[in-house]
Amino acid sequence: MEDGRMLYRSTKGTEEVYFGTALLAGQAKDRGLYMPARIPVLSPETIASMGKMSYPEIAFTVLNPFLEAEIPPKELKRMAKEAYDFALPLQKVYERKSILWLDKGPTLSFKDLAARMLSRLMQHYTKNEGRHITVLVATSGDTGSAVANSFRGLENITCIVLFPKNEVADLQRKQMTTLGQNITALSVKGKFDDCQALVKRAFADPELGPLNLSSANSINIGRLLPQLVQHFYAYARSADVQGEALAESVPCGNFGHITAGLFAKRMGLPIRFIAATNANDEFQRFLDTGSYTPHVPSIACISNAMNVGHPSNLARIVGLYGGIMDENGKILRMPDIASMRRDIFSVSVSDEETRATMIDVYKKHKIILDPHGAVAWAGLVRYLNRIEDWNPCVSFETADPGKFPNLIDRTLGVRPELPRALEALKDKDEHFTEISNRYEDFKAVIEHM
Ligand SMILES: *Cc1c(COP(=O)(O)O)cnc(C)c1O
Repeated sequence: MEDGRMLYRSTKGTEEVYFGTALLAGQAKDRGLYMPARIPVLSPETIASMGKMSYPEIAFTVLNPFLEAEIPPKELKRMAKEAYDFALPLQKVYERKSILWLDKGPTLSFKDLAARMLSRLMQHYTKNEGRHITVLVATSGDTGSAVANSFRGLENITCIVLFPKNEVADLQRKQMTTLGQNITALSVKGKFDDCQALVKRAFADPELGPLNLSSANSINIGRLLPQLVQHFYAYARSADVQGEALAESVPCGNFGHITAGLFAKRMGLPIRFIAATNANDEFQRFLDTGSYTPHVPSIACISNAMNVGHPSNLARIVGLYGGIMDENGKILRMPDIASMRRDIFSVSVSDEETRATMIDVYKKHKIILDPHGAVAWAGLVRYLNRIEDWNPCVSFETADPGKFPNLIDRTLGVRPELPRALEALKDKDEHFTEISNRYEDFKAVIEHM
C-alpha cells in the first residue's frame, strides 16, 4: 500500500494482488473472486454533488478512489467519456416510482455499461506493458455481443466469442458475427454448457500460455467496479433531498449488478435493495433459511439472461457480510445473515407473474417492459405491498424490449419497435467459424488464428 495502490483480495482469503493482475487474471488462483481489500467512502456532499454530474463524471468520481495511483485521473476521465457516450433516461411511472433504462448502449443490454469500461481498463494495462492478450468468452447471447462490441478495434487484444449454434437468435448471432476486425466468432455445435466447458478447459491448458488468455465474464473485478456507477447515477437522478433513502429493484442473474450496489452502499450511498429473480430462487431461500442449495441445472425462464442456478457473485456478497463461500456454493463461514436481510428484500417471480406484470404495466402506464425489467418491476410491486415506502424507488430495465418481439407480441398484442442498431444488422455480412464441441477442434482453431 505504500505507493497508494489498493490491494484486491480473493474471497477465499489466500491471495492479494494489485488491480492490473486481478483484471487480467479474472479469477484468483485459489478459485476465489477478487474484492477490493478496503472500500473507500464518499462524503454526503460528494454524493449530493452528483445530482449535477453527467454519467461519465459520476463514473470518474466513483471509480477513481479504487484506481488511484493505478490509472492517471486524466486517462480514467477519458475512458469514462468514451465508454459512456449515450444517455440513460430515468422515466417516472407514478409518484416517486421510476424506471431507469439501462439498455441504451450499442448492443441494447445493460451489459454494455460494464463491458465498455472493462475493455478500456484492459487495454490500459496491455498497452502499458506492451503485451497482447486474448479475451475468451462463452455466451448464450447478451454477454457475447456486449463484450465483442466493447473490444472491437482495441489494439493488443484479440477477442474470441463462443456461442451455441442453435441456442442464439438470428439477430443475437449477427450482433457477434458482423463485427470483424479483432473479433472472432465461433459457432459451437452444442449447448451453452459446452461453450463454457471449452473456455474453462482452455484456461487450464498450459499449452495455450502463449495466447495470454483473459476472461471477460462477470466474475472479473473489472466488470464489477464499473457497475457501481449505475447505482450512484440512479440515486443522483431520483433523490431530491440530500441523504434521503432510495429503494432499488435489481433484476438478478449472476448477482453482479446487486453486488456492485452493495459496494455502493458501503461507499456511503443510502440505498436498500430488492433482489428480484425469476424462478431460480436459490438466493431467496438462502436469506429465508440460512442454508444454500443451488438449482442444478438452472430453471429455464423467459427472462433468460437471469437463468442462473448458482450465481458466482454470491461468494462476494457472503464476503461483504463477513462469511466465506467457496466456488461450489459451500459455506465455509456463515455471513451475518440478519444484516443481509435488513439490506436486501428478496423476491422470486414466476414466468406467469412476469407476463402478468408486462400486461399490467402496459395497460396502466403504456410502458412496454422486456421480461427482465418486468421481473424487477414485479419485485418492486411486491415490496411496496409489504412496506409503505414514500422514498424514491427505481426499478432497472436491463434489455431493450425490441430484442423480444415475439414474446411481447404474444403477451401484449403489440410489436415493439425494432431498434435501429438491430435493424442495421439485417443486411450486414456474417463471418464465423463453425466447430464441434470437442476441445481438440477448438484448440486447433484458436492456436492457428
Ligand atoms: C445479465 C443480465 C441480468 C442479470 O444481471 P446480473 O448482474 O448477472 O445479476 C439482468 N438482465 C439482463 C438483460 C441481463 O443481460
